[in-house]
Amino acid sequence: MAREIIDDVLLGALHIQSLTRDGFHHDHAVDHVAFQIGTLDALMEGRFDGDTTLGELLQHGSMGLGTVQHLGGELIIDQGKAYVARHDGSVVRVPETMKTPFAVVTAFQAAETVNIGDVDSAELFSVLTSLTGEHDEIVAVKLSGLFHDLVLRSIEEQHPPYVPLSTVIESQHEFTRHRCSGTIVGFRFPDYLAGLEVPGFHLHFLSDKKDFGGHVMALGIESATLEFEASQAMHVELPDGVTLGAPGTADRSAIRAIEEGD
Ligand SMILES: [Zn+2]
Repeated sequence: MAREIIDDVLLGALHIQSLTRDGFHHDHAVDHVAFQIGTLDALMEGRFDGDTTLGELLQHGSMGLGTVQHLGGELIIDQGKAYVARHDGSVVRVPETMKTPFAVVTAFQAAETVNIGDVDSAELFSVLTSLTGEHDEIVAVKLSGLFHDLVLRSIEEQHPPYVPLSTVIESQHEFTRHRCSGTIVGFRFPDYLAGLEVPGFHLHFLSDKKDFGGHVMALGIESATLEFEASQAMHVELPDGVTLGAPGTADRSAIRAIEEGD
């Protein structure tokens, strides 16, 4: 079936196709492709209503992250199952009928696996950068193991009229745990995708007991297995009224304030 492609661009080392919701619906999971709903720019402007369901998203990948309708928490997708970390750090399974305004998944197949021991939270991102190498593409990462000094965050569900994401984040909830075993799913996005995505690492944590999770602000690794895989292409579903914009021109400090609480 013909895909409804709005735009087809080469950006940095990536081939990016923007599709309508109908086109996205007929597109299929492909190895080494990241599938995204919406854009970070649109989310930052307060577009917290999506038109794509998690069921549709899960046809494109088994691992990923994002948020859900009305910004109702931090979305964690692991092994084809969707969970949401709510504003108190508790985790619930979410039905596939739930919609999302912003999420990204991949049909994850680890290309490389590395064992990691003893990384403190200040070193986390630099260690992950050196281990995943000099990729100019999207790198999907998964960490499984025992973590310490966890600082996670989530946000409260919003109601219209929506305010910008920067305002929502001012009252984000942070929670800490001294030690917890679990899984981290996420991505490292190249800087030239800023605005379409979060440049750098974007990681979400889910405890093994599936009772604690959120967006990773900081944590250390006691011992873990890192698996990762690079993606050479990205397919983006753009809801009505949302455009691809000009990735790479976004205000990085505004994004950092949202992602890192700076
Ligand atoms: Zn997040």
